[in-house]
Amino acid sequence: MEPIYLDYNATTPVDPEVVEAMLPYLNSAFGNASSAHGLGREAKVALEEAREQVAAFINCRPAELYFTSGGTESDNLAILGAAYACRTARRHLIIGATEHHAVLEPAEYLHHSHGFSLVRLPVDREGFASPDELRDLLHKDTALVSVMHANNETGTVQNLAPLAEITHQQKALFHTDAVQATGKIPVDVGVLNVDLLSLTAHKIYGPKGIGALFIRRGVDIAPLFYGGSHERRRRPGTENVAGAVGLARTLEIAAQRRGSDYQRHTQLAEYFISTVMERIPRVHLNGPRKNRVPATMNLSFEGVEGESVVMALDLERIAVSSGSACTSGATEPSHVLTAMGIPAVIAQGAVRFSMGRPTTRPQLDDVIEKLVPIIERLRSISPVYKE
Ligand SMILES: *Cc1c(COP(=O)(O)O)cnc(C)c1O
Repeated sequence: MEPIYLDYNATTPVDPEVVEAMLPYLNSAFGNASSAHGLGREAKVALEEAREQVAAFINCRPAELYFTSGGTESDNLAILGAAYACRTARRHLIIGATEHHAVLEPAEYLHHSHGFSLVRLPVDREGFASPDELRDLLHKDTALVSVMHANNETGTVQNLAPLAEITHQQKALFHTDAVQATGKIPVDVGVLNVDLLSLTAHKIYGPKGIGALFIRRGVDIAPLFYGGSHERRRRPGTENVAGAVGLARTLEIAAQRRGSDYQRHTQLAEYFISTVMERIPRVHLNGPRKNRVPATMNLSFEGVEGESVVMALDLERIAVSSGSACTSGATEPSHVLTAMGIPAVIAQGAVRFSMGRPTTRPQLDDVIEKLVPIIERLRSISPVYKE
């Protein structure tokens, strides 16, 4: 059996058309976009074209779009940059309880090292935050609210516009980590009503090491780096022109494919989830049935450790993840599932299957054929599982 990759939420292969678009800027057109000569100007033109394309994709102005090294940097720049810009005025942060570590950790750093107060916006059993609860947490000292668009572990798609509106009533900033939403569902900064939005290329068939942060015009964000005037001084450093061109091409392809990918993944997910539940007793879907990115399927198998399932499937050359890729290796249940109120015994048995464009139904059938005996065996040796 060929290896089967079901970990597309961790990263994706680069689309050959994206490689094609990038190659000239790694080869002959290698110029530094800040150089005054012809090669530099050629790079600058490509960079600004890429900026226009990426900006158009999320419906912002090119001048509001800043290239970064990816989702982690964009999240850090948004959160630390917003806090540093208004350090003396507002000192309160509200962060979604199911955020990625790239949002949680800079917020925790501001709390521990800079004295910001920090609260988590709770979510319900399916991972949704409530506007009423946000209203209760907001006050005149709130600098920033950060709530992700699509969750990387469960696929929950948050309804952001009402949350952003309540945030704006208190004149605080609203940031969203849209890394898992971009290219999969419509992402429009006007419709979402956000001030700051993070995205990255490598989760949607683009290269690693390139992403972007949308900063709404007029929003004050302090830089994290110093050393040049690149990206309007908000992100100095010689521009990754090939990466920016790759990101633009990635989004162009995603725009063409989004509808059909979404439909196909919805059907495959329905098939996989229902078949696993028919074949294996006591399986739970973590996350909602609706308002989700369909390719993310988080299933808990009672009486087993998710990590053991990951390792057993790896021996069969099937790549999946338990909880989020960033926390695997840790034995505690995922903070995302814990925040959703899923009991630790069930959260511990969580496995994330994330599909991509190359995923086929026969591949899913092969995974199920391997999964059924693995779960049976792990349950048979479990000290706690009873039929
Ligand atoms: C992968 C991911 C990130 C980090 O993006 P990088 O480009 O890998 O730094 C941030 N947030 C979410 C939700 C992610 O899935």
